[in-house]
Amino acid sequence: MKAGDLPELGLFSGVAWSDVEAILSPCPIRRIPAGTVLAQPGQVAKDVWLVLEGTVAVHVHRPEGEPLARLGPGECVGELAAIDRGRRSAWIVAERPTQLVEIDPGAFRQLIEGSHLVSLNLLQLVAGRIRQSNHTLANAVHSLDQEQRRQWVDPLTGLLNRRWLDQQLPLLVRRATHDATPMSLAMVDIDHFKRLNDTYGHPAGDQVLHEVAQQMRRRFRPRDYVVRYGGEEFTVVLPDSDLAGAVGAADRVRQALAFTGVAMTSGDHLRVTVSAGVAQLQPDEPWDELVARADRALYRAKSEGRNRVVPAEDR
Ligand code: GH3
Ligand code: MG
Ligand code: MG
Repeated sequence: MKAGDLPELGLFSGVAWSDVEAILSPCPIRRIPAGTVLAQPGQVAKDVWLVLEGTVAVHVHRPEGEPLARLGPGECVGELAAIDRGRRSAWIVAERPTQLVEIDPGAFRQLIEGSHLVSLNLLQLVAGRIRQSNHTLANAVHSLDQEQRRQWVDPLTGLLNRRWLDQQLPLLVRRATHDATPMSLAMVDIDHFKRLNDTYGHPAGDQVLHEVAQQMRRRFRPRDYVVRYGGEEFTVVLPDSDLAGAVGAADRVRQALAFTGVAMTSGDHLRVTVSAGVAQLQPDEPWDELVARADRALYRAKSEGRNRVVPAEDR
């Protein structure tokens, strides 16, 4: 390596060639084509590379896809393993035709120990890399959230779905039992929905489902969980609510819906009503029994004429 090769940025920012000449001039320059794998996880670390031209990518799991980091001219790569003499923790792959200086571990230590500026620059590079990794990590957590969302949210209504209920209701019931706080559950079903589908068509039915879901979402408390159980049937989990409170809440929602109906994009205004069965969790009651009791109450609400809320019988 010679004077003109020393990058002005990164590890050697502000460093005079004369200060590092003795150490760097014996270091070889390597020209590698795109795709060259410089290192892979588990390898015993040897050299540190200083990028002169091109880009190398750092990958954690596989040597392809979006990298954890991309390093360009002036940046060094492989320095962590050289510092702690550990093994490589990542793939290091040339993304483009790349030119780098290969610095052996002994020379690298000499550089750090011999130049204050080099060690300060190194600190800055490493700090930047930690920030970058945190950012990548935060993004990964975010896309995990997105994935979770896709699994738990019903696409038509935007409500939580049955899968969420099956996973979370047992936990909510266990929590309420443990804390000895009341909890109730309502099963809500749209009345004569088949007739509505038959009369106005399936797309109109979808629109009504969406609209009823939004009204429920708005009218129950923010802390209540409104779930699309399936078809035109909803489950509402009401934490901290006893039977009277939950029946009252469900009945207010029922009345409001019966009063306002549903405005369609076609301009039509449809009269839509719901029936509901409500049960309060009883001591040591399993979650599926709570659902079954609310369901039986819903069945009674239907047989007693619909557009009403019926409290469940005790166990
Ligand atoms: P009841 O008052 O006894 O509940 O009568 P109902 O007609 O509402 O109940 P039934 O179970 O006989 O019919 C439910 C209908 O809901 C039948 C089904 O085609 C319709 N349905 C279920 N899911 C959807 C959906 O995602 N979109 C639309 N448009 N219709 C749906
Ligand atoms: Mg129905
Ligand atoms: Mg139904």
